[in-house]
Amino acid sequence: MGQSLNSGVATAEPSSTSAEAPIAFHRPPIGEEEIAAVVDTLRSGWITMGPKTAEFENAFASAIGARHAIAVSSCTAALHLGLNALGIGAGDEVITSTYTFTATVATILHAGARPVLADCTPDTLNIDPEDLRRKITPRTKAIVPVHFAGHPVAMDAIEALARDHGLIVLEDAAHALPAAFEGRTIGTLSALTAFSFYATKNITTGEGGMLTTDDEALADRLRQRRLHGMSRDAWRRYTAEGSWRYDVAYPGFKYNMTDINAALGLVQLKKMERFRVAREAIATRYSEYFRKIPELEVPSTRPNVKHSWHLYVLRLRPSAKISRDRLIEALKQRGIGTSQHFIPIHMHSYYQNALGVRAEHYPVASAAADSSLSLPLYPDLSEREVERITSAVGQLVQQGETGT
Ligand SMILES: *Cc1c(COP(=O)(O)O)cnc(C)c1O
Repeated sequence: MGQSLNSGVATAEPSSTSAEAPIAFHRPPIGEEEIAAVVDTLRSGWITMGPKTAEFENAFASAIGARHAIAVSSCTAALHLGLNALGIGAGDEVITSTYTFTATVATILHAGARPVLADCTPDTLNIDPEDLRRKITPRTKAIVPVHFAGHPVAMDAIEALARDHGLIVLEDAAHALPAAFEGRTIGTLSALTAFSFYATKNITTGEGGMLTTDDEALADRLRQRRLHGMSRDAWRRYTAEGSWRYDVAYPGFKYNMTDINAALGLVQLKKMERFRVAREAIATRYSEYFRKIPELEVPSTRPNVKHSWHLYVLRLRPSAKISRDRLIEALKQRGIGTSQHFIPIHMHSYYQNALGVRAEHYPVASAAADSSLSLPLYPDLSEREVERITSAVGQLVQQGETGT
């Protein structure tokens, strides 16, 4: 211990936060169990869609409480395949929120339909049912609600509009795993629900997605169309009881999951609720701290929802001593990674040109996009890291950058 005598306590103490390791915006929670499961699959002799995918689908369906789960290569694939299998295409309009990722809207175009964008509500940034109602026309065929940040959409309002106007509902639940609205689990409420297992999502398979439904005929159509529209998939053709003969009944897609991804998913699925609890605890700590700072607006949670806490979206009020863009930069300089969700659909050049949409048509979404940032939120974010993030954000919004 003698060596510490002259080395100086002051230098041994981390004097500035920037001396500590950077905090990434996201770290996927992959453990030894996930690694072993992938290795086992690689050694098993079957790496593409086969027994592990079937096992993952069954486990997912029972975890959610849905009759059928169909695994695909991404949530983007799930959305496109879902619209296709529901028969949505040319001449149809599909209403969704402008406050979403491009995949929600691009897939409506890929299906051949016309996307119609609604603004969001200021508290949850989920689709505004009143604006949705105004956008229904005789050509409207479906609604794609997006559970932004993992806060469930008020599905009672969506269900009432769908019933009154004869519309199909396909939920974009990329953020909502696991989540529930009034005690009903997301994934059991609508004709179809699409989930994502992208690297940053609440559970991951690297890349992957899932569709859930209670409709058996629809599930059969999805299973067939995700793999070229073939009457029999490779697993069933190459096993002992299989036959080499197959028929193409529809020009399908190449959207199947692989067993390598499914092996990862099976392990992650077991941890899903534990991950959610850990995320919620961090979100609670953030909000306890930020709620006391008048320059900040913390995310709000409505009663009667189970929030999956995919994202922690913090908003700056006009009184903040730093702009949102400068805040993101200043945090980056302090080794804190952040992100922004979302640049709404109506702010991207393609959609502005193709759909004729402008910022002034979507005042709530436009204001939220300009004033928000997403903070790191993942199960193994340490208490010390949360402290570094809260104190850096608090100091920057109250004092500006002068403190550096
Ligand atoms: C991530 C995301 C998607 C796309 O998911 P992938 O699995 O990456 O295709 C779709 N919608 C929303 C809202 C998302 O955040």
